[in-house]
Amino acid sequence: MTYQVDDRGYYGEFGGAFIPEMLHANVENLKKRYVEIIYEADFQKEFDNLLKDYVGRPTPLYLAKRLSALYGGKIYLKREDLNHTGAHKINNTIGQILLAQRLGKKRIIAETGAGQHGVATATVCALMGVECIVYMGQVDIGRQAPNVARMRMLGAEVRPAMSGSRTLKDATNEAIRDWINNPEDTHYIIGSVVGPHPYPDMVARFQSVISEEMKWQLKEKEGREQPDYVVACVGGGSNAAGAFYHYLDDERVKLVSVEAAGLGVDSGESAATSVLGTKGIIHGSRTLLMQTEDGQIIEPYSISAGLDYPGIGPQHAHLIESGRAQVYSATDKEALTAAMELSRIEGIIPALETSHALAILDQMKLKEEDIVIVNLSGRGDKDLATYIDHLDELT
Ligand SMILES: *Cc1c(COP(=O)(O)O)cnc(C)c1O
Repeated sequence: MTYQVDDRGYYGEFGGAFIPEMLHANVENLKKRYVEIIYEADFQKEFDNLLKDYVGRPTPLYLAKRLSALYGGKIYLKREDLNHTGAHKINNTIGQILLAQRLGKKRIIAETGAGQHGVATATVCALMGVECIVYMGQVDIGRQAPNVARMRMLGAEVRPAMSGSRTLKDATNEAIRDWINNPEDTHYIIGSVVGPHPYPDMVARFQSVISEEMKWQLKEKEGREQPDYVVACVGGGSNAAGAFYHYLDDERVKLVSVEAAGLGVDSGESAATSVLGTKGIIHGSRTLLMQTEDGQIIEPYSISAGLDYPGIGPQHAHLIESGRAQVYSATDKEALTAAMELSRIEGIIPALETSHALAILDQMKLKEEDIVIVNLSGRGDKDLATYIDHLDELT
């Protein structure tokens, strides 16, 4: 049993590349060349240097003593929140901009929901001096003004998606339409381990630096490379994919994925994709997604804009269906409480997405000898407005 992509682009029965004919040549070219390009010595050198000097890697692996005292076990936090731009997303956009250059692409497009991936993309385009167009739902543009301003300041053009619910999935549709119209000169930087093959695998490889570092860092601290648990929140699944990557085939390490339950898994206002989802095709791959009986996508809901995606990456669907990963979910309220708790007892204000991963520590019923790594995917600055709205009820 392997949990990595096979040569057809599948993880078990999930994955594949379900794309319009017009994109076939582009995706085929990417598929043929991505592995060879990213493991070339010159690419690796440039990627590593940028991760080190621009992003600020390696990120610390921090033993959270007071959090551990509260929940048992030894809980380490992998500090992706300390990356430039505040989250793990930059690992992927750095990798993809270097790839785009080697593919001879002069123009970058991206989709964004909350704006975090848009900011990470605009950042690397500014770094490389490349034209950048970010598609964003008109509703999200209204809700996420600071990130829209950041993208514009970084020189990107933010184009509103006006169709459907005018949120992330509509922005994704617009980006795909753009790509169809500009197949020659444009590279599409997808922000998570979703989309047609080879994107899920390519993004996972760029994010795999997270577990690569975890292994040597934990070895230094505990004398062994493998923890008992790795915990990560899952929107599309890229921070989790990176945190799991080098532990996938080591069954001693239990993989824990945390989804957003919104107002409650059965409330009708949730983004718990793996529990509520059924098999189908979304954005070019076969996976689990929230859909009605006749295949209409159900709008997901979570207080956290980075987790309210109606699908999950195909690798996660496979990890869950095969039993390799356990799934937990946390509600809006549990996530807010966890955010407040980490701030108070460790002096770290986490992103709302990340707070979902922290919120399930209580449900895990840890033993004293358990070693746990929680992937602290991002920092909470971007969520301050939401935290302010709830400050009185939480303190
Ligand atoms: C975007 C985001 C996520 C969710 O995306 P994944 O692809 O599931 O990692 C999680 N945490 C933070 C901080 C984010 O910005």
